[in-house]
Amino acid sequence: MSSKRIFLSFPHLGGHEMHWIEEAFKDSWVVPLGPNVDRFEQQLEGYLNCGNVVALSAGTAAIHLGLVMLGVGPGDEVICQSFTFSASANPVKYQGANPVFVDSEPDTWNMSPEALDVAISDRLRITGRLPKAIVVVHLYGMPAKMNEICEIADHYGIPVLEDAAEALGSEYCGRKCGTLGRYGALSFNGNKVITTSGGGALICPSPEAAARVKFLATQARETMPYYFHKVIGYNYRLSNVSAGIGCGQMEVLPERVARRREIHDLYAKHFKDVPEITVHDNPSDEYDSNFWLTTILFDAKAGFTPEELRTHLESFNIESRWLWRPMNMQPVYADAPFYGDGTAEGLFGRGLCLPSGSILTDEDVATVADAVKEFVASRR
Ligand SMILES: *Cc1c(COP(=O)(O)O)cnc(C)c1O
Repeated sequence: MSSKRIFLSFPHLGGHEMHWIEEAFKDSWVVPLGPNVDRFEQQLEGYLNCGNVVALSAGTAAIHLGLVMLGVGPGDEVICQSFTFSASANPVKYQGANPVFVDSEPDTWNMSPEALDVAISDRLRITGRLPKAIVVVHLYGMPAKMNEICEIADHYGIPVLEDAAEALGSEYCGRKCGTLGRYGALSFNGNKVITTSGGGALICPSPEAAARVKFLATQARETMPYYFHKVIGYNYRLSNVSAGIGCGQMEVLPERVARRREIHDLYAKHFKDVPEITVHDNPSDEYDSNFWLTTILFDAKAGFTPEELRTHLESFNIESRWLWRPMNMQPVYADAPFYGDGTAEGLFGRGLCLPSGSILTDEDVATVADAVKEFVASRR
């Protein structure tokens, strides 16, 4: 067993994070909001080539405030991608609304436009109302079929919220993920493409919307000499210290994204002659995933389970992970409607996420690939 553990997605600092943290301490800006938050928001806007980015305490908070801005409330239905992390859907429940889950399609593993279309017309037929919003996810960084999804959404007049938590740097038809829907949510949790040790951002459609999000995220305090509130607020703004980490990370973001893509291509090369293993790839040149995590699928006839391969890798001190267990397979969402043909469930049962952090060396990737290949050969 090798001594050094190879992690799935470990934080990768750039070097200047401490400089910006020290700036915060020097000026006693050890508070929520402050100059680092402003700088971090501007850096994100520059990188994404958009305006109206609001830094928040988490990606989950960004999704929640996106739903609040879209007017999602008690009794509403919200269409959610079923193949995702629970944080994509939980904020629907925070609002007293109900998620309706839609299956994936096999090209991107994201929301199936066909199943979406069926879901919307069926909900309209059953409830007499349209879903209030659509939450689409760019899972593992792979852009969803946004042209098709937005066309359906526009047809019905339903706004789209992108969960781009895993997709910072990914592009679809030459445009950055997170800027393709009405709202876009990003995450800077420790395991994402860049980290603020915990944080997120909401990409808003206008300066007015961004101002409203900032207002809601700072306890919805009206401009009065005393504390005066007309609506329910939240404490969701990013701390100026955390934003300092983000400022340092933004300096190296393009390098980090390039390295994740390089790691994906290395795995693809290692598994090129292994017929049992398929590395999930961009379905066409319209898609440019950041490959936050490189994921593999095993041939349907391969005689092993994700858990057997995961355990084998663990014995080499290599961390890997099952694909996301779809929300329609989660006890907490057992009662939620689901539209699909079991595509995501099928993927879940025959795939794995491999170590993909930008901090990995080429040798680390080779070590992982060799361990996978050895296991596959032992099962032939
Ligand atoms: C990480 C993640 C989130 C939540 O982001 P946090 O910053 O951890 O709150 C939401 N959706 C997806 C798909 C994620 O991977």
